[in-house]
Amino acid sequence: MTDKTQATQPFFDGAAEGKLRLQICGGCETWAYPLTTRCANCGSSELQWQDTSGQGTVYSHAKLQRAYHPRHKQRLPLVLAQVDIPEGLRLMTNLIDVDPSTVRVGDAVVAAFETFDDGGVLPVFRKA
Ligand SMILES: [Zn+2]
Repeated sequence: MTDKTQATQPFFDGAAEGKLRLQICGGCETWAYPLTTRCANCGSSELQWQDTSGQGTVYSHAKLQRAYHPRHKQRLPLVLAQVDIPEGLRLMTNLIDVDPSTVRVGDAVVAAFETFDDGGVLPVFRKA
């Protein structure tokens, strides 16, 4: 069995390089997220890592005013959002560098990358 940390490493390596890198099926070219070992569309196990376009559209959003994890204390108010990407996935993510009151469903967003005090880098989105 593959170690989970090792299995997700390409995602984090991509983030460190400024790329939103996700899995795509080598059989039917369906994108997959979260991490999987089999394509939900055709059942193939031929999943590969590939950089997405980094584009997205806000599907829904909410403003978080209380930190539920110490990592987020400095990020408040934090915008939680579901973002549709042209690769056919809906991602749960955060929008950064935005006044929460100005976020609208349908807003065009682009992938951005946030570095935390512990050195971790995670993909988020900002207005395009
Ligand atoms: Zn497939």
